[in-house]
Amino acid sequence: MSRRVVVIGHGMVGARFAEEIRRRDPDGGRVALTVLGAESRPAYNRVLLSTVLAGGLKPAMVSLHPDGWAEANGVDLHTGVAAVAIDRDARVVHGADGSTHPYDELVLATGCRAWLPPVDGLAEDGDGAPARGVSLFRDLDDCERILAAAAPGARIAVVGGGLLGVEAARGLAGRGVAVTLVHPRGHLMERQLDTGAAAVLGDALRELGVDVRCGVAAKAWNPDLGLDCDDGTRIAADAVVVAAGVRAETGLARAAGLAVDRGILVDDRLATDDGRVHAIGDCAQHAGAAAGLVQSGWEQAAVLADLLTGTDPAARYRGTRPVTRLKAAGIDLAAVGDVGAGDETVAVSDPRRGRYGTLVLRDDRVVGAILLGLPDAAASIIELYDSAAPAPEDRLALLLGRALPGGATEAADPSRMPGSAVVCRCNTVTKNALVTAWREGARDADALRRRTRAGTGCGSCTGTVCGISDWLTESDPPQETAA
Ligand SMILES: Cc1cc2nc3c(=O)[nH]c(=O)nc-3n(C[C@H](O)[C@H](O)[C@H](O)COP(=O)(O)OP(=O)(O)OC[C@H]3O[C@@H](n4cnc5c(N)ncnc54)[C@H](O)[C@@H]3O)c2cc1C
Repeated sequence: MSRRVVVIGHGMVGARFAEEIRRRDPDGGRVALTVLGAESRPAYNRVLLSTVLAGGLKPAMVSLHPDGWAEANGVDLHTGVAAVAIDRDARVVHGADGSTHPYDELVLATGCRAWLPPVDGLAEDGDGAPARGVSLFRDLDDCERILAAAAPGARIAVVGGGLLGVEAARGLAGRGVAVTLVHPRGHLMERQLDTGAAAVLGDALRELGVDVRCGVAAKAWNPDLGLDCDDGTRIAADAVVVAAGVRAETGLARAAGLAVDRGILVDDRLATDDGRVHAIGDCAQHAGAAAGLVQSGWEQAAVLADLLTGTDPAARYRGTRPVTRLKAAGIDLAAVGDVGAGDETVAVSDPRRGRYGTLVLRDDRVVGAILLGLPDAAASIIELYDSAAPAPEDRLALLLGRALPGGATEAADPSRMPGSAVVCRCNTVTKNALVTAWREGARDADALRRRTRAGTGCGSCTGTVCGISDWLTESDPPQETAA
């Protein structure tokens, strides 16, 4: 008899987990899969919401699976049904619609929820939901609400200058909205950037039309007057977008008596302190690190599918080295590792041209970097960071993207890229994997994408995948079939 696996959460990681299970067990002989999703729509690519906000995609274009995927793949999917309780003794999940779902193994993929800070007027009295004119930025409903307010000439205040706040502000400014970004900290994206990089980023945003105000906290929202700030100013705004951080969705796990810190605690098998209950994605906390990026969640989904289908009982999740990339038209920003962890720092600052780089090394290895306006350097440096290979002697050339003979960069020339280089971070696809897929018959960029999934996460590697496809077409052309 097949094992009953119930998944709570049909977001990016819950949906990927279902896909990974069916890749290993296409006919459901080993796993009978039930998925409960609180959102009323089937899973979509949340990472692309910034692109939707910026106008690069329509909301309908971000679905993760084609219509009917669940039925066609034997997945018992319940959209619009939140799980409200887990009875671990009886091994049953209770749905908000009164349904019950018995399990042998339970997978929590409940993600994060956006945090609404305790600022006067932001929440409705009583239920704590966003008040009139206020939107969070986490799901498609939020996105549609923001778009409804984002007519050209509208005035919108964005609260929070982290990655999502910056992406939202840039996207809205590109739509002709008058955007003011308020951030209570001294500089933008303080979790990823040093002050130098943040200053250059702030200038780049101002150039693009965003009024950036750091060290300023929102104090009170009145939809008829605007947003009052703690420096005594009032921002005349028609709407507010709040991007003030997220909290892992751990309520169900906590109520069920599972061990929870910032996220649901899991080991290398993605198991909680109850061996039959697992957690993956943004709700999970592995080895002290809460998730927050899709790459780690998708890697966890693959490991857990190996384990629960019995495909690879030795599979383990050992952590993911995160790379943060800003998705904002006209600004190329990547940050990796820890810029406080090195014994050697090389920096360049060219604020007038929007360029700034910090490269931090320890024992000749890259341990952290911030790269703004330096896309060629970013490609080479991230590769060195991933592979932990020794950095070239000429650090400055590396930082300027000129470390290779003749000044060519690996990013510009796929033939120079090492096979182990990770091209698609969201899906952890290397150049070697793309070359193998090519040799197995995936003979253009679309086929490579379908075969390896490269480019199906945040999409920022699409140009590189096309570059590799072009390079392979020239260097390894398909054999002509004889007429
Ligand atoms: C605008 C935006 C841009 C982003 N950009 C990037 C990026 O560039 N790169 C990157 O790596 N990451 C990015 N992220 C983060 C990325 O989206 C998350 O890491 C990813 O979505 C995590 O997937 P998840 O399945 O764990 O959580 P989610 O995708 O949030 O899915 C969780 C699902 O569980 C459901 N749920 C919760 N509780 C219950 C319950 N009790 N019963 C049933 N269902 C429940 C929720 O409704 C939700 O649908 C971005 C996020 C946002 C919002």
